[in-house]
Amino acid sequence: MPMTLKKLRRELAKAEAASERASQARAALPPGSTRARVTSANARWASAAEYRDLLRGQLAEAEQHPGHTCPECGSDCIKIRSRQLDNDGTVWWGECYHGHEGPDVRSADQALDDFRRTT
Ligand SMILES: [Zn+2]
Repeated sequence: MPMTLKKLRRELAKAEAASERASQARAALPPGSTRARVTSANARWASAAEYRDLLRGQLAEAEQHPGHTCPECGSDCIKIRSRQLDNDGTVWWGECYHGHEGPDVRSADQALDDFRRTT
């Protein structure tokens, strides 16, 4: 199943809740907790927050180009990529969440209709 915006939003909601729980667990450690417990609560919170931020970033990027799907897998999580060429031109292409990329990936912007080279 391809990743979709809907699924990504659901994942993010779960990650936000998990991060919140980890944050509360960390705050709820009683005074005098062992260093090991504090360290592991901190680590759990940090990794939960990191995952949440990763998903937030992916979602923010994908939401910029809604309503378009990858022809290979059907995912509607499309990112726009661009690369500067040696001759100062820029190549644009679309990439779906799963890494399928190419000018065939349809996007909101003209950029995704095909490779565009500007010189
Ligand atoms: Zn795809």
